[in-house]
Amino acid sequence: MKVPFLSFQPQHSPLRTDIMEAIGRVYDSYWYVLGDEVKQFERSYAAFNQVSHCVGVANGLDALVLALRVLGVGPGDEVIVPSNTYIATWLAVTQVGATPVPVEPNPVTSNLDPAGIAAALTTRTRAIMPVHLYGQACEMGPIMALARQHNLYVVEDNAQAQGASFDGQLTGSFGDFNGTSFYPGKNLGALGDAGAMTTNNADLAQQAQVLRNYGSEKKYYNEVVGYNSRLDELQAAVLRVKLAELPRWTVQRQQIAAWYGQHLAGIADLRLPVVAPGATHVYHLYVVHTPHRDALQQHLVEQGIGTLIHYPVPPHRQRAYQALNFPVGAFPIAENLAATCLSLPMWPGMEEAHVAAVTAAIASF
Ligand SMILES: *Cc1c(COP(=O)(O)O)cnc(C)c1O
Repeated sequence: MKVPFLSFQPQHSPLRTDIMEAIGRVYDSYWYVLGDEVKQFERSYAAFNQVSHCVGVANGLDALVLALRVLGVGPGDEVIVPSNTYIATWLAVTQVGATPVPVEPNPVTSNLDPAGIAAALTTRTRAIMPVHLYGQACEMGPIMALARQHNLYVVEDNAQAQGASFDGQLTGSFGDFNGTSFYPGKNLGALGDAGAMTTNNADLAQQAQVLRNYGSEKKYYNEVVGYNSRLDELQAAVLRVKLAELPRWTVQRQQIAAWYGQHLAGIADLRLPVVAPGATHVYHLYVVHTPHRDALQQHLVEQGIGTLIHYPVPPHRQRAYQALNFPVGAFPIAENLAATCLSLPMWPGMEEAHVAAVTAAIASF
C-alpha cells in the first residue's frame, strides 16, 4: 500500500458542496476584500481560540510581522526565537529590523526550553517568540512567568498548533499578540495563503486592522506607514466551513498518533514524539528521530511511503542568515534535531491500515 505524506482528499471531498456554496456566495456578493466573510471568520476564530480579538491577514509570516510592528519592536531590539523553528519566525524579527536571538530547544520535545531563555536575556531583549512546534504546546507557564518578571512581550507563533493547550489554556491566547497561519497544509488550511493574529487587547487589535490595510482607517487617509496584508473574502468563506470541522480533525490526528505509538513501539533506534506534562499535541506533524534518517527516508521512498524533513537546515545555518556569523556547532541541539528528524504521513482521514503500512515499511528497514 502506498501512503502519501499528505492527502487533502478525505478532508475536502465531503465538504465539496459546502465549500463551493461558500465560494459562490462570495462570487455573487460582488464584494471581495474585507467584507462580511472576513468579519464572520474573525469572530468565529476568536471564539474557537478563546480570545476576544482576531485580525485576518494575508499569511502567517505577515501575522508575526504585524504583531511585532504593533508592539513597537524594531531596530536595536532583541527577540528570543527558537534555534530550531521554521525560518518564518526569524524572518518576522528581521523584517521589523530587530535581531533574532536563538535559544536551544528541549531535545526531547523540540520546543523552546524555558531554562535557556533566562540565560539569553540582555538589556535589549523586548520579546519572546515561542513556537508550538509540530503542534505541541510550549511550556507556557514558565515562559509567561519569565516574560512578566522581565517585562517582555510574548508573541506566540501558533502556525502549527491551532487547538493545542498548556495547562488547559489554548495556544494563541497566552501572548500579547499572536500569529497563526492557514497555509493549505496547516491543521486549519485555506485554499491558498491566509493567516490571522489573535489577542485579548482591543487597542492592539485595532492598530493591526489599520496596519494590515495600508495604515488606513478611513479610505484614502493614512495614519501610519502600513502594509497590504488582508485576508481574502474567498479564503475567509472557505475557512468558515473548515473551522467547524477542526475539532474533529484534531481528534483524528491524535488517534493516528496513538496508532503510530502502538505500532512503532520497540523499533530500535527510533525515537517517537514525547508530550510534556501540561501540554497537549495536535500533531500538525508526526516527527520521529533516528541517526539513520537519510537511509530510512530513501528506503521509505522505495516502499511508496511519503515523508518530509521539518527542517533540514536550522535558520542559523541558512545562507540568508550568514551575516549573523553563527558557525557550525553554534546551536548543537538544533543541528542534531535537523540531522535526525523525519516527518511521517499524518492527515485527517488516514486509517489504521495506512499507519500499519508505514510501520511495516519502517520495520523492514
Ligand atoms: C507555516 C509557518 C509559518 C508561516 O506561515 P505562512 O502562512 O506560510 O506565511 C510561520 N511559522 C511556522 C512555525 C510555520 O509552520
